[in-house]
Amino acid sequence: MHLEKRVLITGGAGFLGSHLAERLLEAGHQVLCLDNFLTGSRRNLEHLFAHKRFELLRHNVTEPVYLEVDEIYNLACPASPIHYQRDPVHTTKTSVLGAINMLGLAKRLQCKILQASTSEIYGDPVVHPQTEDYWGNVNPIGPRSCYDEGKRCAETLFFDYRRQHNLNIKVARIFNTYGPRMHPNDGRVVSNFIVQALLGKDITVFGEGRQTRSFCYVDDMVSAFIALMGTSSEVTGPVNLGNPHEFTIAELAEKVIELTNSKSRIIHCPLPQDDPRQRKPDISQARDLLNWKPQVSLDTGLRRTIAYFDELLASTTPYGQM
Ligand code: NAD
Ligand code: UDP
Ligand code: UDP
Repeated sequence: MHLEKRVLITGGAGFLGSHLAERLLEAGHQVLCLDNFLTGSRRNLEHLFAHKRFELLRHNVTEPVYLEVDEIYNLACPASPIHYQRDPVHTTKTSVLGAINMLGLAKRLQCKILQASTSEIYGDPVVHPQTEDYWGNVNPIGPRSCYDEGKRCAETLFFDYRRQHNLNIKVARIFNTYGPRMHPNDGRVVSNFIVQALLGKDITVFGEGRQTRSFCYVDDMVSAFIALMGTSSEVTGPVNLGNPHEFTIAELAEKVIELTNSKSRIIHCPLPQDDPRQRKPDISQARDLLNWKPQVSLDTGLRRTIAYFDELLASTTPYGQM
């Protein structure tokens, strides 16, 4: 029997939120996206506007909100360094006050709530690959701290609401994820390199490019979110979600040049402060608990993302005005 649920996605107009909204609608649920459009865009959702089971609400999660829903995915937060560092105080408020308000909402409704946490809570890790029991190596006072510490505090709040109010919580530690609808100007490495390659501009590798990341395609990540939300109440996480295939940033630059057939040159720019040197998830827990592993290879995922940006760059409306 299909049970139709009313699902709230905060940050629903963003990259991950818009894909999640699409998938939940396809599964027959009602979807309410809440967003203040800081980094997200109505354009990411416009193909869903005519859908009978879809709603969009402009709201800032730092303010209380009274809604009636069955499940909450708390994704609201700028995710790329240039965006979350633009107004760092607001970034911390979004993670901390946003978590408090959404947990308060979940407590009143006695509903499940999933937190989009991040691999950034491991900071510049000295344990490699990262397992969930590693406590991390985070600078508390650096330029990335507003994001890292905000997300760490949000995890604390989730577990305290669990201990204090017996809330059904799910904490997902998301590793670098890419795909269509990433913001073209958000400075993340995959979108930067693809846009630079398509425009024939220099590809900006920060530092020597020897730092590593592991890139997960968005469809795989959305499957993991839904699987985690569907687990029984003993499963709280934190669970690492990501693709364990590790690449250096220099390798990624070469792959993007190859797949776009670009004439762009690689140039080296200064490495940003506190940039983690290596990152790769240990996903044994996700495999065991969710029976999940990524299906989409970097080549396939990059091809789909390149096709998206190619179309976007050819469109006449500048992204900022959409
Ligand atoms: P995104 O910037 O595309 O989406 C975030 C959305 O949240 C945007 O639509 C933005 O407008 C909205 N938002 C920001 N502050 C808000 C506020 N105060 N009130 C209401 N809405 C607000 O980023 P994304 O990549 O889709 O990330 C979604 C979530 O996943 C974030 O919480 C992020 O920290 C987490 N995450 C993402 C990645 C990744 O690689 N994409 C990795 C780790 C964690
Ligand atoms: N909250 C909300 N929507 C609700 C219920 C609560 O936004 O439906 C907010 C409320 O503003 C509160 C926060 O969530 O500040 C935390 O709620 P909780 O019940 O845990 O704490 P309290 O109300 O006692 O501060
Ligand atoms: N990076 C880069 N060139 C760019 C953007 C990013 O070399 O134009 C590097 C960045 O220094 C980091 C990695 O790519 O080492 C991933 O950066 P991103 O901002 O995408 O994610 P995060 O650092 O949060 O993992």
